[in-house]
Amino acid sequence: MGEIRYVDTRGAVKEPMEFTEAVVHGLAPGGGLFVPEEIPALSLEDICGLAELPYAQRAARIYRAFGVDLTDAQLGEITTGAYGANFDDERICPMTSLPGDVHMLELWHGPTSAFKDMALQCLPRFFSTSAAELRARGKLSDKHMILVATSGDTGKAALEGFCDVDGVSIGVMYPDGGVSDIQFKQMATQRGSNVRVWGVRGNFDDCQTGAKTVFDDDAFAKSLHDEYQIALSSANSINWGRLMPQIVYYVSAYAQLVADGKVERGTQIDVCVPTGNFGNILAAYYARRMGTPIRRLLCASNENRVLTDFINTGTYDISDREFVKTPSPSMDILVSSNLERQLFELTGRDSAAIAGWMTDLKQSRRFKVDRDTFAGMRELYSADSVDNAECLETIREVFERDGYLMDPHTAVAYKVAERLREDDVPVVVASTAHWAKFGNNVYRALHGIALDEELPGEVSALTGCELNKLIARETGVDNVPFGLSELDDLPIRFTEVIDGNADAIKEAVCAFLEFRG
Ligand SMILES: *Cc1c(COP(=O)(O)O)cnc(C)c1O
Repeated sequence: MGEIRYVDTRGAVKEPMEFTEAVVHGLAPGGGLFVPEEIPALSLEDICGLAELPYAQRAARIYRAFGVDLTDAQLGEITTGAYGANFDDERICPMTSLPGDVHMLELWHGPTSAFKDMALQCLPRFFSTSAAELRARGKLSDKHMILVATSGDTGKAALEGFCDVDGVSIGVMYPDGGVSDIQFKQMATQRGSNVRVWGVRGNFDDCQTGAKTVFDDDAFAKSLHDEYQIALSSANSINWGRLMPQIVYYVSAYAQLVADGKVERGTQIDVCVPTGNFGNILAAYYARRMGTPIRRLLCASNENRVLTDFINTGTYDISDREFVKTPSPSMDILVSSNLERQLFELTGRDSAAIAGWMTDLKQSRRFKVDRDTFAGMRELYSADSVDNAECLETIREVFERDGYLMDPHTAVAYKVAERLREDDVPVVVASTAHWAKFGNNVYRALHGIALDEELPGEVSALTGCELNKLIARETGVDNVPFGLSELDDLPIRFTEVIDGNADAIKEAVCAFLEFRG
C-alpha cells in the first residue's frame, strides 16, 4: 500500500510525501503543485475490465494505482459515499452518443449539476479521512477552514461537498451581483451547520485577490492557530485530491465505450474539453499516460483564448489581454494554474524551468517555453476557440438537429471537436454543466437573442427556476434536476455582503469562527 508518493513541480519538497499529506497541504511549500512521483500504467485489459464494476469501484481502482495511503475499507467508504445516491444516474457520468461518433460524457449528474461535483464529492472525504489519519499519526493538531473564492460553480459544489464534514468549516465568497439567479440561490440556500456564504463588493478577480492575500498572511495564520486551532485551506483544483478523481471518468468512459460496442477495443479516441483552469483536460492527459487509448487532447476555449494561443504559439501572454465576459463564465480565466503540472510533465520534470517560467509570468505577465517543450505539447494537443455568437448558435443547431440540449460550456467544446477532429476517430466531448444552470443563455440561444440584447420583458421578469420551466416546456426536454427546480421554495440563509479587501475578509472569517465556537 502507498508505494507512489508525491513530489512538487518546483522542487521544494525534498522528502516525497504520502497522498494524505499532499491532500491536507493542498499546495506545496514554495507555491508548487503536488504530482505523483510516477504515473502508474494500466494494461488495456485492466482498463476495459473496469466496465464490469460500478463507478465507485472504478474510482477506487484508479486511486489505489496512485498509491493512496488509506485502507481498502477507508477507500471503499470514500468512493461509495462520493458516487452513490447523491447522483441522479447510477452510472454517475453516463454518455449520450450523437451522430458522427460524438460521445457526450455527461459530468453533471451530481448534486449541483456541474462537473465540479465529480471531484468535490470526493475531495472533502479524502480531506477529512486524511486529516484524521494524520491526527492519529501525531502529524496534525489543527482543524481546518476551507476558504473559497468562486465565480459560481465551484462555490456551490464545494459547499455541498464539505457540508457537515467533521473537523472542517467552509466559507465561500462570490462577486455580489456577478452570478446568475440560479447560482446565487444555490449558494444562499445551502444547508449545513459548518457553512457560510458572503457576497463581495467587486468582481471575481477582487474575490480571488482578497482570498489570496488572506492565504499568504502568516500573522493571520498564526492568530487563527492560537485563537481557534484552525488552519486555512483551499478547495480549488490545485489540490491533487481534486485532480485525481477527474482522471477516473476518462479511463472509465473508454472502458464503457468498448463495453457498449461503440469503440473497438484498442482503437484510439480523441477527447475534447471546455477548458478554464486546465484541471479537467489535464486529467485526460493523465488518463492517456496511464494507458487509455487517447490520440489527441482537444482544448476548447471561449473568447478568453489564452490557452488556445499558448498551445498554438508556445507563448503564454496575459500582459495585454482583457478579461472578456462570455456565456460560459466558468471558463473566463486568465491564469490557468494547472498548466504548471502539464509543463512539469512535458519538460521531463524540470522544476528549475517551471520555477523560472512562473517567475516570468508573475513579473512580466508572460512566458515562452523552449522548443522541445513546445514540440511535445503540439504532439498531444490541438486547440481552438469559439466566440460568443458561435457558442449560442451551436446550442441551437445541435438542439434542432439532434434534439440534444447543451449548456454553453459544453457547446464550446462540441464546436471545437467538430472543427479539430478527424473523421474516423471517435470523439468524447466533456459535457460540464446541465443546461439549466445557464438557462438565461440557453433561452437566448434557442430564440436567437444576442448577449447584449434585452430579453423580452415578460421573460426577464422570471426567476431562474421559472425560466428553466419555460425552456423545458418549449423544448419538451423536461429534465431540470430537482436541486435546481426546488430553489425558489428554499429559505435564503445567507445575505451578508462584505468588502473585498483582506481586512474585511479576515474579519468575516473570524466572526464565523467565533459563531461556530
Ligand atoms: C470549471 C468549469 C469548466 C472549466 O474546467 P477547468 O478544469 O477549470 O478547465 C468548464 N465548464 C464548467 C461548467 C465548469 O464549471
